[in-house]
Amino acid sequence: MKTTTRTPFYQHTLSGPVHFVGRGLHNGKPVSMTLLPAETDTGYVFERLDAEPGQQLVPARWHAVTDTRLSTTISNGYGVSVSTIEHLTAALTACGVDNCRILLDGPEVPIMDGSAKAFMERIQAEGLLVQQRERKALVVTNPVWVYERNRYAGFLPCPRPWFDVTIEFESAAIGKQNYSMPLTEHMFDSNIAEARTFGFEDQLATLQALGLAQGGSLRNAILVDGDRVVNEDGLRYEDEFVRHKLLDAVGDLSLAGVPIYGRFVGHCSGHHLNNRLLRSLMHNVSYWRLTTVREATEQWGCMIDDSTYEEMLESI
Ligand SMILES: [Zn+2]
Repeated sequence: MKTTTRTPFYQHTLSGPVHFVGRGLHNGKPVSMTLLPAETDTGYVFERLDAEPGQQLVPARWHAVTDTRLSTTISNGYGVSVSTIEHLTAALTACGVDNCRILLDGPEVPIMDGSAKAFMERIQAEGLLVQQRERKALVVTNPVWVYERNRYAGFLPCPRPWFDVTIEFESAAIGKQNYSMPLTEHMFDSNIAEARTFGFEDQLATLQALGLAQGGSLRNAILVDGDRVVNEDGLRYEDEFVRHKLLDAVGDLSLAGVPIYGRFVGHCSGHHLNNRLLRSLMHNVSYWRLTTVREATEQWGCMIDDSTYEEMLESI
């Protein structure tokens, strides 16, 4: 880190450019991407350099999500889109970057090794600059849930950003897994950042017929065949699958545009339900209030303990 004066109460941006080259997971094409510092209150804004002048900006916001099949795609009013943004936005969020311009010469963020590790490492190596404006916070004040058959996702009031994710798959390679943690840079870096995306052998042909997963390989994804992990090197963690789902949730929910002071609970949730939850939250202004991280931290400490969470979860 170049910067040592970081504070949770103020916005941050990168101290300089960070460059990546790679391939898109779904379109398989080479792409070059540069992260640049941005002004206060910019948020994350993609710029498609290969699009027509005047149509290049694609802000990464919840209402701009246009496709959630396997990854999160955002689009602007001209139909210019950027896909598979969630691992990058997760890394930016976990590193404490509030404002960033993201220049791309193609329609998809490079997949790297299927995790957020490379993004995290290079953002941390470049370092952050503190900016002269307070960091805002969206404080969840009432529980909010969205459902889809046996899947659900929700937010509970919580004094700080927290992620609680459960998955259940028939494959014995995965089974039922849960991971729950407060979102901090250290927790994300040491437990989540390296968890890779995953897919199933029996769905690969269907996906590729749809034009998806064209760039997928054992170098950037875990492949599951029945009850077996195909990758020769195996898994990075025994529960790598649920850790990756938590990574995805951090990236998807960062599209709120400000940190969410609430506890995300996801049961078999994915990009689609994550976005539905954000839309539901944003459209119901009685479920939250907008304040600053300083005020949220000062006002919310010790108001909710673990037993209250258990009661709330049992009431679902
Ligand atoms: Zn993912």
